[in-house]
Amino acid sequence: MPSMADTENLQIRLASRPFGPCGAEHFTIAKAPVPEPADGQVLIRTRYLSLDPYMRGRMSDAPSYAPPVEVGGVMVGGTVGDVVASRDPSLSPGDTVLAYTGWQEYGVQRATTVRKLDPDVAPVTTALGVLGMPGLTAYAGLTQIGRPRAGETVVVAAASGPVGATVGQLAKILGARAVGIAGGPGKVAYLRTIGFDAAVDHRAPSFAADLAAAVPDGIDVYFENVGGPVWDAVFPLLNDFARIPVCGLVAMYQATSAPAGPDRTPALLSAILRKRLTMQGFIVSDFGADLQAEFLQRATGWVRDGSLRYKEDIVDGLANAPEAFMGLLAGRNFGKLLVRVS
Ligand code: NDP
Repeated sequence: MPSMADTENLQIRLASRPFGPCGAEHFTIAKAPVPEPADGQVLIRTRYLSLDPYMRGRMSDAPSYAPPVEVGGVMVGGTVGDVVASRDPSLSPGDTVLAYTGWQEYGVQRATTVRKLDPDVAPVTTALGVLGMPGLTAYAGLTQIGRPRAGETVVVAAASGPVGATVGQLAKILGARAVGIAGGPGKVAYLRTIGFDAAVDHRAPSFAADLAAAVPDGIDVYFENVGGPVWDAVFPLLNDFARIPVCGLVAMYQATSAPAGPDRTPALLSAILRKRLTMQGFIVSDFGADLQAEFLQRATGWVRDGSLRYKEDIVDGLANAPEAFMGLLAGRNFGKLLVRVS
C-alpha cells in the first residue's frame, strides 16, 4: 500500500474545453484520496505518463472516434507504473505495468487490462513509445497501408517523434528510401543520425524546394502525420499509385477555421483519380492482436540489436504536464514526450 505520506493523489483534470490552442487555464491541479482497488483490480503508482497529440482531441467534444474527457474529469493517458496493492492473483506489489491510468499519481485498473513489463527486455519507458502505441501506429500504418516496396521513396513528417522516427527506420528495414520532415536544424540533423536518407526542415523558407530536391524520384508513400502546409508541399510530388496512410493531422488539431486560400478539394479529387492515389485513414486500435504481437516481437528484436533507435524527451513532475503538452502541439518536444511522475 502507499505510505502514510501518500494518502493524497495528485491529479490533472480538464477545467474547460479549449477553442483553438489550449492553455494552462484549461487544466486544474487537484488532490483526491488514493483509490482502493476492488476485487480483480490493482492500485498502480504512476512512474511515467505518456503525452500524446490525440489528447487534444479528448479535450474537445467535437465528433471523434473516441469519447471526450468530461469537464472536471482526470485527463486520460497511457502510463507505466508500479503495482502497490493487488486484489488479483496475476499481479503482485512491485510489478511494473503498462496501464491507462491518466494524468494522476495513482490509479486503479482491472488486472486484465494492464500488461506486465520486464525491465530486462527493454527499458520500461519504451512501452509508451517505440515499443508501445506510437511504435505500433508506425508499424501498422506502414506495413498494412503504405506497403513500401524496396527502392521506393517513403516520406514522413513529425519525423523525430515516436511515430515518425519509427516509420522512417522501418522504411529502411523494408528496403525503401526514407525522407523525414521535421521542425528545426537540430531535429533534421538527428534524423540523419538514425538512418534517414534525407531530412528537410518544414520551418525553412525554402522548404518546398528542399523537399522536391530530397525526392528526385517522387514520393511513393507519404505517411501523413501533420497536414497543413507540409501536405501542400508533399501533394505535387506524389507519384502515380502513391499510398497515403493518414495517421494524424497535428498541424490542424487546434485550428478554428478552414485554411486561407482557395478550396483545394477539386485538385485533391482530381489527383486521386489521375494518379490513382490511395488515401486511407486509420486508428491504431483498428488492427488486431495478431499484428500487435507480430509488431512487439519484431520491434523488440530491432530495438535490442540497435536497428530501431528511439529518443525520449522526459519532463519532471506531474504539475508540468500541461505546459509540456502545449509544447508537444507546437513542436517543442524532441522525441517521445514523457512525464516522470514519481
Ligand atoms: P510527436 O512527438 O511527433 O509530436 C508532434 C510533432 O508534430 C511535434 O513535435 C512537431 O514536430 C509536429 N508538429 C506540430 N505542429 C506542427 C505543424 N503545424 N506543422 C508540422 N509539424 C508540426 O508525436 P507522435 O509521434 O506521438 O504523433 C505523430 C502523429 O501521429 C500525430 O499526428 C498523432 O496524432 C498521430 N497518431 C495517430 C495515431 C492513430 O491511431 N492514427 C496514434 C498515434 C499517433 P516538428 O517540430 O518536427 O514539426
